[in-house]
Amino acid sequence: MKPMHAVVPTLAILASSGIAAEPAPDAAGSELAFGCWGDEQGHLSGGRFLVPSLTEAQRAAFQNNAPRGAPDNRIDLVIVGDGYTADEMAQFHLDADRISVDFFSYEPWTTYRPYFRITEVEVVSNESGVDNDPTQGIDRDTAMNMGFWCGGIERLLCVSTGLAWSYAITSSAPDVDQILAIANSSKYGGAGYGSANVGTASGQNAAAVQIAIHEMGHSLGDLADEYTYGGPTTYTGGEPTEVDLSIFDHDEQIALETKWHLWMDQSMPGFDNPVSTYEGGGYSVYGIYRPSNNSMMRSLSRPFNLPSAEKLIKEFYGEVRPIDQGPASGASFTSADTISIVPMQPVGHDLTIEWSLDGSVIPSAAQSWSLDLSSLGLSGGAHTVQLSVVDETPWVIKPGIRDNFLTEIRTYTVSAGCGSVADINADGLLDLNDISLFVTAFLNHDDAADLADPAGVWDLNDLSAFIGAFVAGCP
Ligand SMILES: [Zn+2]
Repeated sequence: MKPMHAVVPTLAILASSGIAAEPAPDAAGSELAFGCWGDEQGHLSGGRFLVPSLTEAQRAAFQNNAPRGAPDNRIDLVIVGDGYTADEMAQFHLDADRISVDFFSYEPWTTYRPYFRITEVEVVSNESGVDNDPTQGIDRDTAMNMGFWCGGIERLLCVSTGLAWSYAITSSAPDVDQILAIANSSKYGGAGYGSANVGTASGQNAAAVQIAIHEMGHSLGDLADEYTYGGPTTYTGGEPTEVDLSIFDHDEQIALETKWHLWMDQSMPGFDNPVSTYEGGGYSVYGIYRPSNNSMMRSLSRPFNLPSAEKLIKEFYGEVRPIDQGPASGASFTSADTISIVPMQPVGHDLTIEWSLDGSVIPSAAQSWSLDLSSLGLSGGAHTVQLSVVDETPWVIKPGIRDNFLTEIRTYTVSAGCGSVADINADGLLDLNDISLFVTAFLNHDDAADLADPAGVWDLNDLSAFIGAFVAGCP
């Protein structure tokens, strides 16, 4: 297939596109998004397009939806299918299952697969298959209007992003962060809608999911396209905001300590190596550099490069916190309690867990998911326990990212009482606070003031027991 970028300028695609209704004069109904597709050789084309905006109602539903990561501390990837009839749901799940495996076949996705929750949502279409498959001119009645030959591009597989969102949100999915719309088809194709966080793929074509992987680079990692066609031959703009493009070459980046200077000349297994500055990217051939020769953001079926992987991991941790379960920071415990947590678990390495007491690390508790406070021999008042969980992956090199995204610290207060029942607040002291707490507990018929028999009765016996214990002092 002849590369479409050579014959169809980006903005012309826009004007005639099925992705985009013609932009309204005020452009209120459209927004700029990445749209990329690949040919059979894996060469990518596309760029930024105007695509139809979500409707106000859809956007409201999108925004009211739980934030990424919440409530389950996972990034929710929802797979919806188009062109599957009621009788074809088994095929939908077969396709979705395979795609969910393929989707995580590149690093850093493979290692961080447990940070994602994948939900398959059944959407029933009236007719089987999608538009223009296998050839142009075939129109089918399907739930999300998916079709090939979008904008005149055979491999561009479009979807109504608004319909995809409405099916995903109204489903039983716990939360929606990213949507993958798969077509009941074996024809090669796909597309990405960056601003809508929707990617498309052909359900029965093993290579088609590559486009969705590339697209997640845009939508989750805010990565730029690293291919060199579709724009002006020479780039003349300012420094791009994306982490994987720069107007500065190898030595300039190091001198300026900017962009991927910390990664310069490094290689690691699983990535597109080595990191340097390669001229061309962001749709231009000259005047701009990319971090590696041929990454997933340039060609399909290629690894990501290290600066892109670092950014993706940062984004994963923007949504998923290192401590998956456990008491919130600030929680109070007594010296008899045990504090238990569950850390996130990437594939292949553990997060680093460290407990400390009053500022000193507890070596014996390293990597432990729980801390038995009674084993610490605490007494005499309030202590501070700090828990630190850090992902020390070598794929993150910037200290700021490690400290601010890959690290979670929680602090707990532990009160060690003096052993007297009169030390109501268990702070190791008998003072006015305990008297006040006793009075309140007594009036409220709380257990803390039920110190003497008969149990369940708050009378002079309890008052007398409190005074006796108070006067006796701490043992
Ligand atoms: Zn792209």
